[in-house]
Amino acid sequence: MPSNQQNVSDLVIAGGGLAGILAAWRCLGTGNADTVTILDAGDNIAGDHTWSFHQSDLSPEGLQWIRPAVAHEWPSYDVHFPAFSRQLPHPYLSMNSASLRAAVAPLITQGRLHVVTGRKVKGMRPTSILLDGGEAVEGKTVLNAMGFKPSANRVLGYQKFVGQVVRTAAPHGLSAPIIMDATVEQNDGYRFVYCLPFSEQEVLIEDTYYEDGPALDKADVIQRIAAYAVGKGWQVAEITRTESGILPITLASDLDRQMKTENPGVSRIGLAGGLYHAVTGYSLPDAVRTAERIGSLKTLTPDSVYTAVLDYRKEHWEREKFFRLLNRMLFKAGTPQERYKVLQRFYRLDEELVAGFYRGDITFRQKARILSGKPPVPIGAAIHNLSERKFLKRMRSEH
Ligand SMILES: Cc1cc2nc3c(=O)[nH]c(=O)nc-3n(C[C@H](O)[C@H](O)[C@H](O)COP(=O)(O)OP(=O)(O)OC[C@H]3O[C@@H](n4cnc5c(N)ncnc54)[C@H](O)[C@@H]3O)c2cc1C
Repeated sequence: MPSNQQNVSDLVIAGGGLAGILAAWRCLGTGNADTVTILDAGDNIAGDHTWSFHQSDLSPEGLQWIRPAVAHEWPSYDVHFPAFSRQLPHPYLSMNSASLRAAVAPLITQGRLHVVTGRKVKGMRPTSILLDGGEAVEGKTVLNAMGFKPSANRVLGYQKFVGQVVRTAAPHGLSAPIIMDATVEQNDGYRFVYCLPFSEQEVLIEDTYYEDGPALDKADVIQRIAAYAVGKGWQVAEITRTESGILPITLASDLDRQMKTENPGVSRIGLAGGLYHAVTGYSLPDAVRTAERIGSLKTLTPDSVYTAVLDYRKEHWEREKFFRLLNRMLFKAGTPQERYKVLQRFYRLDEELVAGFYRGDITFRQKARILSGKPPVPIGAAIHNLSERKFLKRMRSEH
């Protein structure tokens, strides 16, 4: 039930990134919150990102309510591997920090969404948030959406990248995104370049690495982006934006143990709740679905929100089991230089399977299809890493 009490929002969200903003937007949209407060340590909410997703990642309703934040849309996308290239006729969409902020701006103007920036959250309880400096912000219920934090209950690999939006001197000729161009030199892990053509002469070029550790030499990667542009015959007239990311890729996780380390009764959403695709690191589809779960509750209370989010996290953990297994194959079973073969083989499979993979929703039969045939990793190493429980135990004893 919306609050009438002055200065106490129905929902107070710590962290104004993708997950926090989507949850606020959805609850204000469905009306189970009259007012929401977002607290963020940064200068602005939404940071400085581009978030892309496949249309088939979301339900038609999910796509409909976030559509005002969509900045770009393409009807298909390409992948390139040493052995083949392929175009998949699946719509691909992008939002960015500016388009997301613009979508929720009317709620701020109406006084329903309160945004407090430059304030660091120090502690959380089910109905209050403690700020650095000692001040407490009360809410009918609260959410932790403060992004990724490492945990001893997850074994990770990393997807690291630097992306630059460049303006080319002449039309670059790309009409569809390149989701993976793995024809580039392979180094210490799986490497590919990702391109999003925003206009005839504007393209985001992102050089990405799947590696064991989080170190990222940005200057080196920026040079490789320049070399990639040259290889494509693109003359860069201007670099308009640079972004970088070090995203967690989960090889194994223990949700039960993780829950015991978290503040009782405080729900975690987004990366803070481990809600991202284990292989791709994409979190937008889970952030939309979590927002919908919370937004569909009749009444927002600490209990109702906690139960809804916990249920979602459990379902997500179950659903992602297979993807964590694939990561153990990708990171632990093969040599880093050969990792691209796993993806190369995967992208030869049928379109529906590829779409289901990104959505995080594939059938038993489709899982068997992914694992069948001549495995691109040594069978002994694959079997050694099959059991998540044993893998976690082994990793814990090694560290
Ligand atoms: C460059 C980049 C590109 C990405 N591209 C995609 C993509 O194309 N598609 C996709 O699905 N995913 C993508 N991701 C992955 C993922 O979707 C993003 O990381 C996403 O922003 C995660 O959302 P979140 O809300 O969980 O965390 P964040 O967006 O990181 O938000 C966390 C917020 O919490 C705030 N915060 C943290 N600690 C505190 C504190 N103590 N007090 C107050 N505030 C705090 C931060 O300032 C931040 O605003 C990308 C990630 C990056 C970094």
